[in-house]
Amino acid sequence: MADQVTAGETERADGDPRAAGSDEPEGPQRAEISNYDIVQHHFRQAAERLDLPDDVAEVLSSSYREVRVQVPIKLADGRTQVFTGYRVQHNGARGPYKGGVRFHQDVDLDEVRALAALMTWKTAIAEVPFGGAKGGVNCPATDLQVADKQRIARSFIDKIEKVIGPGRDIPAPDVNTDAQTMAWMMDEYGKLHGHTPACVTGKPIALEGSYGREAATGRGVVYLYREAAPALGLKPSDTRVVVQGFGNVGSWAARIIAGLGARIVGVSDANGAIRRDEGIDPDALLRHLAEGGLLPEFEPAEAIDPGELLEIECDVFIPAALGGMIHERNADRLNCRMMIEGANSPTTPKADEILEEKGVYVVPDVMANAGGVVVSYFEWVQNLQHFRWDEREVNDKLGGIMRRAYRSVAQRAQDSDLSLRSAAYELGIERVVEASRTRGYIA
Ligand code: GLU
Repeated sequence: MADQVTAGETERADGDPRAAGSDEPEGPQRAEISNYDIVQHHFRQAAERLDLPDDVAEVLSSSYREVRVQVPIKLADGRTQVFTGYRVQHNGARGPYKGGVRFHQDVDLDEVRALAALMTWKTAIAEVPFGGAKGGVNCPATDLQVADKQRIARSFIDKIEKVIGPGRDIPAPDVNTDAQTMAWMMDEYGKLHGHTPACVTGKPIALEGSYGREAATGRGVVYLYREAAPALGLKPSDTRVVVQGFGNVGSWAARIIAGLGARIVGVSDANGAIRRDEGIDPDALLRHLAEGGLLPEFEPAEAIDPGELLEIECDVFIPAALGGMIHERNADRLNCRMMIEGANSPTTPKADEILEEKGVYVVPDVMANAGGVVVSYFEWVQNLQHFRWDEREVNDKLGGIMRRAYRSVAQRAQDSDLSLRSAAYELGIERVVEASRTRGYIA
């Protein structure tokens, strides 16, 4: 299995919906409900079912620390511009805080707070010994020159260096940040603290990054497809897949699942959407984008309205763009049997209900996209040991963790008659509560 789910490495951002400089898909509008409300909704429901005492629920529904910083940089044209950066550490009961840093014009405290909480549950569900954190800088990342992006990365680290570190909080890539961004961050942290590769993960291979890290989130999505497929009687050779967002997660998931024999029948990015019932070759699409082509111009696929992407008849729909893309007003249009959430919080609670009524099997973000943080854990371990594993070892270990997470969540869902999402939240919350109690944080 490891071989089949293995593909080569390239450099692009983790969770980035804009491969080749594209923006998020514009077709289906995003939901009005914020990421924060989505995550809080799932937490509150699970807390109620678990009968968590109010004081415990209060500790777990708020952040441990929220840092808001000024990120001033001198632009290439000589002007100074000030951006706002955030690092939210949600819960550290199970280990050092862990989570990505995104550069995006929509970043705000609420979003970062929600994504930090999501990391707490994600690391607990995957059983990697980390807490949850997230960071972000509000900036127009896709319009910035590389030199300005570097200045932002360094300036941000200068402002948060006191609250991060290998045993404290370990940033990683997320939307519009990548291995190069992590290299700048590691270098900046090193100027202040001495060479410390374990201070960030998702680094380039040349700078003590881990083999397999870049593809890890997409590969994790495919491992979960393989776990879930038998329940729906699906075989890769007759699985049709639609991928919304063709950044790091979407493009790797597409390449790896196509490598198993599945057919990619629809893809979108910010510039539009395409479909082809006979199948789209994701490698050829990547080459087309790398050469400066736009996604809707990719031949021999047919350009369609991004809204129509949801209506393509398929077996597996993979949302891999930004949060809130599947909502009350468009969930009914989905024409899939299974949805595996590569993005963080792509589905609103109302959309969840609609999908449940339609009988769509939803594999939720907190489990489905954990592959990135799992291999970040491996990278951190390798850095602390000053020892490197080969890619096969990384992928095999990733597969083991993803399978275990899926099986324990699916078992819980079956035993308690819950959706996978509800079962996953329950498991994650229980593990964090246990760690908090054992430490003596809560009674
Ligand atoms: N940004 C990724 C996520 O949302 C990875 C985080 C990490 O590797 O720490 O899961």
